[in-house]
Amino acid sequence: MKALKITAVLREINLTFLFCTITASLLTAQHMSSQGGGEYLSEKVTCLPSQDRFQIEQMLSANHQMLKQRGKLLEPATNNNVIVTLDWPLRKKSALEFNSYYATNNFVDQKSDPGLLDYHCQSRTYDGHRGSDFDTWPFPWYIYENNLVEVVSAASGIIIGKTDGNDDDHCSCYGTWNAIYIQHSDGSVAWYGHLKKNSLTTKIVGDLVSRGEYLGVVASSGCSTQPHLHLEIYDQDNQLIDPYQGVCNYLNVTSWWSTQRAYREPTLNAILTHDSLPVHGCPETQENPHLSTVFMEGDPVYMALYFHDEIIGDTTTLRIRRPDGTIWNSWTHYSPNTYTKSWWWWLWYIGSNEQFGTWTFEADYRGQIHTKTFEYIDSASLCTVTNTAESGPGSLRNGIQCIDSSDTLYFDPTMINAEIHLDSVIIIDKNLTIYAAPDQDILIFGTDLV
Ligand SMILES: [Zn+2]
Repeated sequence: MKALKITAVLREINLTFLFCTITASLLTAQHMSSQGGGEYLSEKVTCLPSQDRFQIEQMLSANHQMLKQRGKLLEPATNNNVIVTLDWPLRKKSALEFNSYYATNNFVDQKSDPGLLDYHCQSRTYDGHRGSDFDTWPFPWYIYENNLVEVVSAASGIIIGKTDGNDDDHCSCYGTWNAIYIQHSDGSVAWYGHLKKNSLTTKIVGDLVSRGEYLGVVASSGCSTQPHLHLEIYDQDNQLIDPYQGVCNYLNVTSWWSTQRAYREPTLNAILTHDSLPVHGCPETQENPHLSTVFMEGDPVYMALYFHDEIIGDTTTLRIRRPDGTIWNSWTHYSPNTYTKSWWWWLWYIGSNEQFGTWTFEADYRGQIHTKTFEYIDSASLCTVTNTAESGPGSLRNGIQCIDSSDTLYFDPTMINAEIHLDSVIIIDKNLTIYAAPDQDILIFGTDLV
């Protein structure tokens, strides 16, 4: 039995039979760029067919009677001018590392006759829409599957209706939605529709909920093409209202929001890195975010931005920083139009002579810098020998198989005075370097090793 002692400085070992000389060409950083993306449109279908609406009204009316008889309904405020104010009805879980997570896709249609008119005298609605639609964005199905955006009560009140147990992954209009209906202290009522099956609060009809309390998870139950919340509001006289104040709101004069959000809120929802081009769409088209933050030499790095309410002419300055903070590349993106939802991507390859470590993709949008870090790792580090096993993960045999030609195989720094006993020959059919630090003293035992 021979012992092969690897002690110190870079020592090249040509262990065995086949020896291929690889001429490594020194690659420079490749600045190959490709760009795509654009507007992301969701199909507009009615949120609630009239037959469903009729049944809901019947159900709410019956519940209302029942709760009144039981003395459970809150007494409406005597002053009709006092109305509740509504807080934002959505919140994201901290596990969702997006800057923002929604886009307001449809407002109330102010026109009773055919034609589109929202409170802002534009047409972000569909014919006959009686609510406000807040889409989750980007990757609504990823958000849905992981329960990352919740519906919360916009105001405190009493549950006067609740429907649960219906399928929630619809990409078209069918079935019944899951929803919860809350009556506020002034007698006004809020409908929260399209919720996730079995995600609704365990509270029942007649129970009180407070402002900001969890109601359910955003999903796509009933007549819906993607996860979104449909919020529909009625005043104390059971008249439809549009919570947004605006010149073309003919339903009510004042805003019902505690703080009304702007008609357009230019926001970078997310800055992300992907290992291949993300796929958007319904489960049928297999939405796949392809999220990744770890890349090796030769890997494509797709860098993408996701906006809501990006405005025509908006400028975003993008930078890619090396681990030492120096700029590897920078460029500018101009928005060619105004969009409710938009996304843009660029494909980069980081060259073989670049720094390994934590890189930063940076977007400077409207005075705010958004960042996404990603790891650029040496593929050789994945092959590091971490144990003295004859074979298997972390073994020398595994490391030699794993390492690329002309790369260096390392022993983990914790391996000191380690002895590796080989039962059979390791065939090395590539040119490689095996390196042990001066103080590691790795001993390899085996037959016919050299
Ligand atoms: Zn709707």
